[in-house]
Amino acid sequence: MNLGKFKRYPLTFGPSPITPLKRLSEHLGGKVELYAKREDCNSGLAFGGNKTRKLEYLIPEAIEGGYDTLVSIGGIQSNQTRQVAAVAAHLGMKCVLVQENWVNYSDAVYDRVGNIEMSRIMGADVRLDSAGFDIGIRPSWENALADVQAKGGKPYPIPAGCSEHPYGGLGFARFADEVRQQEEQLGFKFDYIVVCSVTGSTQAGMIAGFAVDGRAQRVIGIDASAKPQQTREQILRIARHTAELVELGREINDADVVLDTRFGGPEYGLPSDGTLQAIRLCARLEGVLTDPVYEGKSMHGMIEMVRNNEFPEGSRVLYAHLGGVPAINAYSFLFKDG
Ligand code: PLP
Repeated sequence: MNLGKFKRYPLTFGPSPITPLKRLSEHLGGKVELYAKREDCNSGLAFGGNKTRKLEYLIPEAIEGGYDTLVSIGGIQSNQTRQVAAVAAHLGMKCVLVQENWVNYSDAVYDRVGNIEMSRIMGADVRLDSAGFDIGIRPSWENALADVQAKGGKPYPIPAGCSEHPYGGLGFARFADEVRQQEEQLGFKFDYIVVCSVTGSTQAGMIAGFAVDGRAQRVIGIDASAKPQQTREQILRIARHTAELVELGREINDADVVLDTRFGGPEYGLPSDGTLQAIRLCARLEGVLTDPVYEGKSMHGMIEMVRNNEFPEGSRVLYAHLGGVPAINAYSFLFKDG
């Protein structure tokens, strides 16, 4: 894999830590060893997360091209837009964020707290839009780009989750290299990697990166979009493209995309009872928080897979914790009793 030919602007602290989830592993019977790679605290820029790692490969183009405004899009409680706002502030750029109405949820201050609050504090121009959930390219975002241009600015387009950006998969291809280095220090290799998927470039990058040592199909995506067909197509397309970019030397095919669709419901952004139970279990056994939109769903998936003996005994499983915890503030009603 040739990642060295791409410029990278460091926005993270360095390799994110890998920590054992000992009490959770024991609670689930002790037959499988669970670990977490902590992308949720990978940066000092507004709590970081998976987009901060992806943005490291987009930002060189934005700087070198003389762009002055980062323009991105997500739901009202988008982690992506919060991370773009942080990076823009860090670099002294302007930031325009389109926040669509992706989630059928209305906690009293859903559009005031958590991610959107932080983006506003960091000076982003936050524009609410009534359109519903869709991970594709959106007219509202194209309008925001045109608007910046009409006012004499130079907008740098960053699509939802960075996923449709040509370099959107590179950050998590590099994640695989980082894991391999950490495995050398740990003295063992992970048998499975569990990751939450919605817009697709996190898992896609991992597929390309872990294909290097034959582990593409050991990357277990847990769908949190509740529209898994579109997510799956996007993962495959981005993984293929990323594999070509990094000169992987082999085609990525449909079988390389493992996407479990059991845990994404009832809808994007809405947790099931299982999601909430998984969030509480991990929080109470480990002191590790996950959110009802993304990581609670992949945590639920991993816990159920251990309970159902879907991982062979003795497996070492790496849970990629991609961030997202700021959104819990917007779901306070669900947690009013803990
Ligand atoms: N986890 C968190 C916390 C996220 O913010 C996202 C963003 O969509 C994901 C998982 C899913 O990653 P991706 O959109 O690359 O599939």
